[in-house]
Amino acid sequence: MSSELDPPQAGEAYSLYFQEEAVIRQAETMIGKLDEVSDGVRTLADAYRLGYRETARLVRISDRMQLDLHEANRTLTAQAEDLKRLNGTLRKEIERREQLEQELRRIASVDELTGTHTRRHLLELAEHEQRRSARHGKGLVVLMMDLDHFKRINDRFGHAAGDQLLRDFGALLRSSLRKGDIAGRFGGEEFLAVLPETDLDTAEAIANRLCDRVREGRTQWTGQFLSVTVSIGLAGTDGDEPLDRAISRADQALYEAKSAGRDRVLVARSGPG
Ligand code: GH3
Ligand code: MG
Ligand code: MG
Repeated sequence: MSSELDPPQAGEAYSLYFQEEAVIRQAETMIGKLDEVSDGVRTLADAYRLGYRETARLVRISDRMQLDLHEANRTLTAQAEDLKRLNGTLRKEIERREQLEQELRRIASVDELTGTHTRRHLLELAEHEQRRSARHGKGLVVLMMDLDHFKRINDRFGHAAGDQLLRDFGALLRSSLRKGDIAGRFGGEEFLAVLPETDLDTAEAIANRLCDRVREGRTQWTGQFLSVTVSIGLAGTDGDEPLDRAISRADQALYEAKSAGRDRVLVARSGPG
């Protein structure tokens, strides 16, 4: 097949007109091809532009994301530091409160002067022991003790000397009782002890031994040796009698021991009820 731009074949009239026509057709074809090329270039340029925009957008997003992540990281690190500090402070505060609570419990339960139980703690323990005895159908013995003529000691040697005698009595009382016995300062120079699962005769023997040890004991005070005696009232009780009633019977026996001349042990012979 002959192309439009091919030279004229043999026999065709080779005229100027023909040449002109051929050049015009050739030019038109070239223009058409140039159009095609420029369309292609435009499409390519559009594609580039589109691609560039997309890339720029993604770059912006990732930059911002990086910024955001960086910022978030900084905030989280600061918050973590704050939390660590807060946690440390809280731990210290909890430790402080636990120490304070322990200290308060100690103050509420241990008599500072004598190292024996405080009245409140003593009664709590005694009530608990009394209920336990009631459950097991066993008796217990209540001892009320009061130092004799203690006012005279204070008057003669001073309050500090009296305090030292009270300390010594507390130590003697603790060392005279058995494990499981409960003893404490009932108030002033009065002490109370509860001896669980003990019969009256055993308790009386324990009380007499304590009475002897107090009489024989000496407290050294500014170059002198002070001594004191104690009167003790005992009441045996079964688990059913309210504790305060047993205490008041022991107190009555103590009063009788005082009346009978002090420095002795008296047993409340009337039973509970
Ligand atoms: P009684 O033989 O009748 O018990 O005579 P008493 O002098 O011991 O009895 P009273 O109850 O008249 O006096 C008790 C004294 O105990 C008076 C008080 O000042 C003293 N006393 C109470 N508590 C303390 C204390 O903690 N320290 C000192 N040093 N003395 C105390
Ligand atoms: Mg008294
Ligand atoms: Mg007294």
